[in-house]
Amino acid sequence: MWAKVLYDGCLDLVFPPRCAVCNVYRKIGAASGICSACVSGVRLVEEPVCSICGTEVYAQGSTHVVCGECLKKSPPYDFAISLFRYGVEIRALISRLKYNKDTSVVLAISELVKVYDFSLFDFCDYIVPVPLHKKRIQKRGFNQALLLAKMCFGRGDRRINVEVLRRTRNTVPQVSLGGRERRKSLKNVFRVNPLIDISGCSICLIDDVYTTGTTVSACAKELLAGGALQVVILTFARVEVAQSGR
Ligand SMILES: [Zn+2]
Ligand SMILES: [Zn+2]
Repeated sequence: MWAKVLYDGCLDLVFPPRCAVCNVYRKIGAASGICSACVSGVRLVEEPVCSICGTEVYAQGSTHVVCGECLKKSPPYDFAISLFRYGVEIRALISRLKYNKDTSVVLAISELVKVYDFSLFDFCDYIVPVPLHKKRIQKRGFNQALLLAKMCFGRGDRRINVEVLRRTRNTVPQVSLGGRERRKSLKNVFRVNPLIDISGCSICLIDDVYTTGTTVSACAKELLAGGALQVVILTFARVEVAQSGR
């Protein structure tokens, strides 16, 4: 125990820890990957949210709110929950996780997600990261959705499974496309692995950011077509699209 404290202390002296967001040196020995100034800028997704898609809504005095978009067209999944708003700090963490993974960003995200109680997902049989195409994994070396799944549920959670769903095509980044183009570009991209029986299973699909929900909806449709009983969504961040609720 003391040996570890001493070892960590020496490491801090040789490689002073930097904040995973703003990159300034943190206090030596601080047990966090993110400085207090950046932590104070992080915003949780706050109630009231749509009880289906999880987007923040303007509504008063009601616990069961459904947003206008979900009233118009119900998503294929049961519900979606996002942890943090996609603000400057969270955006920086996700970008660093994707393109420059290091221990301070993993430490910072692990600490942030600790405030949540993930027992809400105890009923799920599988936790499935949204898959990347194998070419992108080769290039990047890892799937950030898988890393997030491990940070939220623990590395040893045997329900985490990257084999359930596959990506058959490498698509252009969704942020560059409009709604209709997004749906078109994701048509037939995801495939359930026929070697894994998901019939009657409840599946938690996990991704880094929820923007329009097109990607997770495409995955959910495929999982349900493959026999899953229900699909729920967990994303680390949510791009704010303010909506009125009913
Ligand atoms: Zn900072
Ligand atoms: Zn909604």
